[in-house]
Amino acid sequence: MNPFKKIMTCVIFGVVVTLAGFEAMVHTLHEDVEWPFWAFAVISPAAVTASVSFVLVRQVEANRELAAELIAVQADLLIKANRDELTGIMNRAAFYREAAAYDDEAPACVLLADIDHFKAINDEHGHAAGDDALRLVASTLRAALRPDDLLGRVGGEEFAILLTGLPFALGMTIAERARGAVDALDLKSADGDAIALSISVGVAPYRAGWSLDNALAQADAAMYGAKRGGRNRVQAAA
Ligand code: GH3
Ligand code: MG
Ligand code: MG
Repeated sequence: MNPFKKIMTCVIFGVVVTLAGFEAMVHTLHEDVEWPFWAFAVISPAAVTASVSFVLVRQVEANRELAAELIAVQADLLIKANRDELTGIMNRAAFYREAAAYDDEAPACVLLADIDHFKAINDEHGHAAGDDALRLVASTLRAALRPDDLLGRVGGEEFAILLTGLPFALGMTIAERARGAVDALDLKSADGDAIALSISVGVAPYRAGWSLDNALAQADAAMYGAKRGGRNRVQAAA
């Protein structure tokens, strides 16, 4: 009901109730009442209910707008609380929470991917180029994964991935595909210099109910093995 209709309903209700009471009183007293009294019995409740209901309806409308604003702000905060601001993918806390909630019967794999020699990119091309590289690697990894796979930025230049419902051998294949996709990127600095990008990836098996920390620690150890082995490679957990 629109605000005008609400106010009119209140006014009509107020006038009808007052007139009914007035009429009952006149009837009981067997009095003749002049028309100005009847007019007063209409105008007075109409004026009071119109002004009171106007204030109340305006307050209800304001409360409704406030509630809608609050819901929008809450939704925005929820998104911000779960997203990494720079890359738009999940942040560390959101990744850990979502990955720990994996409850599928099927096996899964966890991957840790770390950008190689990232400090040199910052040092040689500037922090803004480093940020561009982070955004590009994040979107490239996302594109190399399936929609149900989880991807989070868990450190400065470190990404964690949960490949859902996938045997280990296939997990290695996807990790290799992601590594190849990053290696094939063609990023240029503001000065037009080519920026070489690669990642080292560690892969560990994971299942619902297992310790996520343990699986990530295994993937981390494998990732450091890939670094020691020359970088830009994928290594399986021992
Ligand atoms: P490695 O191949 O062994 O992984 O070497 P690395 O240089 O990639 O690793 P290192 O840990 O030495 O350096 C990581 C750098 O990442 C250092 C830090 O300044 C940079 N970094 C972390 N977060 C951000 C960020 O949000 N933006 C930018 N531009 N740089 C960042
Ligand atoms: Mg690195
Ligand atoms: Mg690192």
